[in-house]
Amino acid sequence: MKSAIIAASLLLVTTDLYGESSQQATIAIIIDDLGHHYDQGSQLASLPYPLTLAVLPKRRYSKKLLELAQQNKKEVMLHAPMETSHGFQLGKGALTASMSRIELQRTLQESFAAIPGAKGFNNHMGSALTSNKQAMHWVMQAVNQRPYYFVDSRTTAQSIAAKVAKTYNIPTLTRDIFLDHDISASAIDRQFKKLIKIAKKNGSAIAIGHPHQVTIDFLKDALPKLDELGIALATVSALWQIRHPSEAMYAKRTQAHHSNALSYLAQ
Ligand SMILES: [Zn+2]
Repeated sequence: MKSAIIAASLLLVTTDLYGESSQQATIAIIIDDLGHHYDQGSQLASLPYPLTLAVLPKRRYSKKLLELAQQNKKEVMLHAPMETSHGFQLGKGALTASMSRIELQRTLQESFAAIPGAKGFNNHMGSALTSNKQAMHWVMQAVNQRPYYFVDSRTTAQSIAAKVAKTYNIPTLTRDIFLDHDISASAIDRQFKKLIKIAKKNGSAIAIGHPHQVTIDFLKDALPKLDELGIALATVSALWQIRHPSEAMYAKRTQAHHSNALSYLAQ
């Protein structure tokens, strides 16, 4: 009887320690499509908040903005262009379903090489490619064993990208909210409120925005007020760590690597 009471009170303490009230709700904000407009990109790189910047490979200002982002200690990702179902032009680094495995993987490696210091990647466009099983396996195999995380931008509800990434033990996250599909301050405000609501409900949430001036102006106004709302802003890798407090980010892949090596040796 006594032990049942102790167990019950332990349960209460556990709920208090790990329940909603004790962990501050946290958001991560990724800004996609950096590389084209230096002015907007440099404003974002200079904001004194831990935004995560997703840079397109080999665009006019990719290198300059990458340097500026790193000077300002921003977390940077590769924003990898992937084929759409509407046939949009994707520019340099585009990954398409008609590519051979070697072509696709080499293109992705070259894109990573163009964004040195990137901590992870997400898809630019990609409504066709992220629902293509074979292409997604090739993409994830190309980054398997390398210290990159993946964020599924979820440009289509049919995306299997996150699911495939997880089968390779790649640290994987999924976008919850697009901030600025509708490029107006009132629409961005609505999306931002949704983001905060999801973060309060689930403990954390991820938004993707774009380097539109209206988005930048909104963030300049909204980010200093996050504290008052009881919301923390984290980089994508910090958010992953908050969600997986007892795991090292790439530990599982090291294990997978070792067991692959051991089974190879045993043959
Ligand atoms: Zn994009």
